[in-house]
Amino acid sequence: MSERTLSIIKPDAVERNLTGAVLKMIQDEGLKVVAMKMIHMTKEQAQGFYAVHRERPFFDSLTDFMCSGPVVVAALEGDDAIARYRKLMGATNPDNADEGTIRKLFALDVEKNTVHGSDGPETAAVEISYFFNRLEMVG
Ligand code: ADP
Repeated sequence: MSERTLSIIKPDAVERNLTGAVLKMIQDEGLKVVAMKMIHMTKEQAQGFYAVHRERPFFDSLTDFMCSGPVVVAALEGDDAIARYRKLMGATNPDNADEGTIRKLFALDVEKNTVHGSDGPETAAVEISYFFNRLEMVG
């Protein structure tokens, strides 16, 4: 079934000029970019995006990191896009990520782990609408 998911290329990757390499992996996987832009979030915008994690011990550090530099946000579309992108990303902690995944190749540590991807259909819908309005979506 065709789905959409929200991808973020995080500040650690944009800063190291890895945007193109990550997008190539996404496109080689057959996922279609249906919206994309570069933004530099405020602390409040990062806190809003990660609101589900607000009780976690790493929340303050994570939201500082996510507004430390520009990110590239994109909506991706394809059959089973949510699970396929999670698989391509690899485990949250790059030490546990499978060979050939984005995080295994590029992540610096469990926080600076290069990419975000939605974890389910409801989250994907909320996350895509957090960054994009209908005029910014193709198709
Ligand atoms: P994922 O991004 O793989 O879905 P989570 O939803 O559990 O992972 O966490 C959201 C983000 O919070 C992670 O991608 C990572 O940047 C950060 N994070 C997760 N666990 C930790 C941790 N133990 N220490 C620091 N940052 C973390």
